[in-house]
Amino acid sequence: MKLDIPGLSGPTKPGKLLCIGRNYAAHAAEMKSAVPSKPMVFLKPSTALIPSGGSIIIPDASKDVHHEVELVVAIGADGRNIAPEDALGHVAAYAVGLDMTARDIQAAAKEKGHPWSVAKGFDTFAPIGVFVPASSISDPQALDIKLEINGIVRQEGNTSDMIFPIADLIAYCSTIFSLEAGDLIYTGTPEGVGPVAVGDSLVATLEGCPPLTVSVRRP
Ligand code: MG
Repeated sequence: MKLDIPGLSGPTKPGKLLCIGRNYAAHAAEMKSAVPSKPMVFLKPSTALIPSGGSIIIPDASKDVHHEVELVVAIGADGRNIAPEDALGHVAAYAVGLDMTARDIQAAAKEKGHPWSVAKGFDTFAPIGVFVPASSISDPQALDIKLEINGIVRQEGNTSDMIFPIADLIAYCSTIFSLEAGDLIYTGTPEGVGPVAVGDSLVATLEGCPPLTVSVRRP
């Protein structure tokens, strides 16, 4: 799926989706996980992306697919070993996204010390809203973020509660991965994660961005 990212020339297929785990203390606590001492990074394939108006497909392999509402950063300028003070200059745009997670598959993987790629990487597991230019967001670390399911609030937080702010995430990730224009970073979820069911309607909102609406269905 190609995305319209303000500041980039033409629709762009993201090269990689970097995702940050446990970046809000209250979410780490609800998962009974320790707060990490450095960002915890995993990847999703770009084939997991779906736009607003699309449907999350619950795979036959999972009986417990969870929502995680997140601020998503789109990288606008390539970089490696980016200094934290330069990092926000590499951001083209922001959107709200959902890091869908097969919690039962993830729990089994955690127990065995296996990777999370399957739990996190199914088709449709990375819904993404419409991007707004980074210049339209005066402070990305002071935004209300929320998820409603069928009109009921399930997650509500503020990006000021991130353990590692966006600039630090970009700087850290760029020491490992060359960042390229079009790459996305899902920056972690506040507390309140929980299961979705067939027929649910999810509305994710991030202050300053258009809402993301998705439904849930079986294959
Ligand atoms: Mg997440």
